[in-house]
Amino acid sequence: MARKKLIAANWKMYKTPDETRAFLRDFLPLVAGHDRDEIVVCPSYVDLAAGVEAAKGSNVAVGAQNVHWKSEGAFTGEISAPMLLSVGVTHVIIGHSERRQYFGETDDTVNLRLKAALESGLTPICCVGEVLEEREAGLTDDVLRRQCVRAFHAISAKKAAKLVIAYEPVWAIGTGKTATPELAADAHAVIRREAKEAFGEEFAARLRILYGGSVKPENAAALMAQEEIDGALVGGASLDPKSFAAIVEY
Ligand code: PEP
Repeated sequence: MARKKLIAANWKMYKTPDETRAFLRDFLPLVAGHDRDEIVVCPSYVDLAAGVEAAKGSNVAVGAQNVHWKSEGAFTGEISAPMLLSVGVTHVIIGHSERRQYFGETDDTVNLRLKAALESGLTPICCVGEVLEEREAGLTDDVLRRQCVRAFHAISAKKAAKLVIAYEPVWAIGTGKTATPELAADAHAVIRREAKEAFGEEFAARLRILYGGSVKPENAAALMAQEEIDGALVGGASLDPKSFAAIVEY
């Protein structure tokens, strides 16, 4: 089954609203008319409105980097799905390893965020992936299975329709070490099997699983050539318009 690839930029804690506008001014002409893949940029919260405005009418969508599971409330520092939707955001990254590593994100809070995103109509890009010690101990498949089972808990196939998964081996994020296309494809197959268990065969065949971890213009084509790899979540190399456009155009 043909799956439209999704190439997403995770800008982490980089760029101001002015820098967001400048990026899109330079980037949009480079990818104008590109409809082979879906393109998303995920800037920080303060840049979202500027990003949506600058990308209006283009083939580039804007996503956030996190979402809380409640619509509103006394949750200082958090942001809700209705708030994201109100400024025109369509996608959201959930469970990024930096959230898990530095900000106490757990499999259970990933599940809550995922449910809220799906409920609201946002397209969630849910991140899973093993750390180096887990890979070296031969635990990669177990970790991926656990993260998927808990992320998918109590979500129906109907509700999960927009779900996107990003396989991001933590040892490959920001390190310059990329998983080989074959190794990434093996991990994707594990994730797809879990999706089949949770949501059924047809759903699993349609599910887009992105690869993330030091994707660059030089390695994008080899990764994207794998049938199991349905796009990329790109950190460092997405901050420069030319470099991100080269990845989109792999
Ligand atoms: C990421 O942060 O999701 C990521 C994949 O980063 P990088 O491309 O810099 O490894």
